[in-house]
Amino acid sequence: MRFEISKVMDAIEGRVCTDPHLARAVLDLAEVVRYQDLDGGRPANLLRLGMVIDALVRHLEEDNVPVYAVVHRALLSDADLTSNERMVVRRWADDGLVEVLDNPGDRMLEVADLLGLPVLTRARLDGLRGRYPWVAEQPGRVLAPVAGAGGPTLTAHVGGGTVPVSGTPSPAGAQLLTRLWRCAEPGCALFGGGGGGGAFADLARVERSPSGQAPPTLRSGAPTCPRHGSRLTDAGARPRTQVLAVRIGGLTRRRFVLTSDEPVLVGRAPEQSGGVVLGQWLNDEARRWISRSHLQFELRVGEVIVTDLSTNGSGIRPGGSMDEAERIPLAPRQSRVLGPGDMVELYPGVQVGRAGELPTGAAFNPTSVMAEAPTMAMRLPRP
Ligand SMILES: [Zn+2]
Repeated sequence: MRFEISKVMDAIEGRVCTDPHLARAVLDLAEVVRYQDLDGGRPANLLRLGMVIDALVRHLEEDNVPVYAVVHRALLSDADLTSNERMVVRRWADDGLVEVLDNPGDRMLEVADLLGLPVLTRARLDGLRGRYPWVAEQPGRVLAPVAGAGGPTLTAHVGGGTVPVSGTPSPAGAQLLTRLWRCAEPGCALFGGGGGGGAFADLARVERSPSGQAPPTLRSGAPTCPRHGSRLTDAGARPRTQVLAVRIGGLTRRRFVLTSDEPVLVGRAPEQSGGVVLGQWLNDEARRWISRSHLQFELRVGEVIVTDLSTNGSGIRPGGSMDEAERIPLAPRQSRVLGPGDMVELYPGVQVGRAGELPTGAAFNPTSVMAEAPTMAMRLPRP
């Protein structure tokens, strides 16, 4: 595989997941790769997923936004993709990063319904409005990725807006996500004992927490594996979670999931698998100030506890207040419960708080997943 293409694929790979806490929109990968008008290139191209993710990032004004991709099994052997692209999709399938199905049916909408996520599709969903009323009733909940002057853009099916709107998870979805589920099929990538089980299982680079397990499909009300069609067994309570977000220079750069299982370290370059690395977004001064492992976050009985592990200390901004007089110093080795709306500040402009509670406001300048894209893939139609 050409080096630069493989780098783009790696960037895109970091932006597909079936984690209910992190995915921000649902799409059908087999549909998206055929948006030929986005670049005027060959009939199917996996890079179009990156273009659609970029459009989502721009419209959400948040960086590193992952999507939940449902994939028809036929795409894994689709002759319109290159052999390398097919290999990449197979690896995603084996790692459980995408959901591969024999018959996707309305699974894309079911996932969106269970998780309260927006849907990115050009398909007309008229026949599904009865089952999923939000398709017709909630403006911005379904958006079509279309070609625009400055690259792909989004247009809402209802209301004509461009900003994806989330709903709330359906009651069934909320209930399903309180439990862990197990598929009887050996090596099931979505509901197996751990990790994927396919041909690339040994190479799996993705460490997944059980709290990030995909939502089952409901068949006659019973939780079922969408891939294998078998009834799932209840494997116990899902660990509690809290989604936190890193905000740098006024922009949310990435979200991460805190579970009751283990603490998460945040800093310039924490030596923890799953630690949150900030170095790439920091200027020299901030790099010097912020320790490799600066903060530790823990989730204990539903409360987020932050401990300062740094040399220079941090501060709490109560309720997100940017008033300097209200900033509470958090000295090295000191711990504190994060109150509603509170942000921890590692350095001026570098903050962590609960996702969804962080204010945004700075001019948005996202890091494109396509930044490394070879120019041949970016032959966008001229305005
Ligand atoms: Zn299964």
